[in-house]
Amino acid sequence: MGQIKLENVTKTFGTVEVIPPLNLTIEDGEFTVFVGPSGCGKSTLLRLIAGLEDVSGGDILIDGQDSTELPPSKRGLAMVFQSYALYPHMSVRKNIAFPMKMAGMDKAEQDRRIESAAKALNLTDYLDRRPGQLSGGQRQRVAIGRAIVREPSAFLFDEPLSNLDAALRVGMRLEISELHKRLATTMVYVTHDQVEAMTMADKIVVLRAGYIEQVGSPMELYRAPRNIFVAGFIGSPK
Ligand code: ADP
Ligand code: MG
Repeated sequence: MGQIKLENVTKTFGTVEVIPPLNLTIEDGEFTVFVGPSGCGKSTLLRLIAGLEDVSGGDILIDGQDSTELPPSKRGLAMVFQSYALYPHMSVRKNIAFPMKMAGMDKAEQDRRIESAAKALNLTDYLDRRPGQLSGGQRQRVAIGRAIVREPSAFLFDEPLSNLDAALRVGMRLEISELHKRLATTMVYVTHDQVEAMTMADKIVVLRAGYIEQVGSPMELYRAPRNIFVAGFIGSPK
């Protein structure tokens, strides 16, 4: 569970075509990174997959099922934002519980999932705190925890580490990679940071002005970048 297929997906804002017809298959369990300069359409593409934006054309298939018209809550995906989007007045526990509560999940099952996510993310001692009493890294973990408890078929990350300082980013990069190994769930990860792309990705999708310049493993792109634009977006391999 967790294959995402984009077939001739387009997105137009007003008269501007931000995403020209785009085809891409993200395989189940794969860690796929969208990389490209600011404004090239990375967030838009992720929001189209999540259902937070409607496509202007084309189809989105999730596990082979046409999901183009499904609302975000019915897609089985969980998005983690750069801004964390935590509720400041709620405890960590309540923040993590929120999507499950909305879904009307059994309280015992909610608690089980919260304990399990907190353990995986080293948040067990922080469950009764408010977001304001946490560090940036801890806040980002809470946001990830809130995604984990939904047991999504894929995680969608939009530049989740860009608000963290450099030292913390390295640690969180490793944590997310570990999480991917442990859960073996599809992750689609947007960044403009070449190092993140090269160290985390199974597959990198290099975007430029809404279209795909090249797709490949970090090593493939490093060894054989199609052009100077791709080469400019590739640092060193893992
Ligand atoms: P990235 O995440 O790669 O920086 P975005 O997906 O945010 O790029 O934006 C791609 C392009 O689409 C930009 O030119 C941006 O200005 C435009 N865009 C994004 N969202 C909207 C919107 N809601 N209305 C109009 N234009 C938008
Ligand atoms: Mg963006």
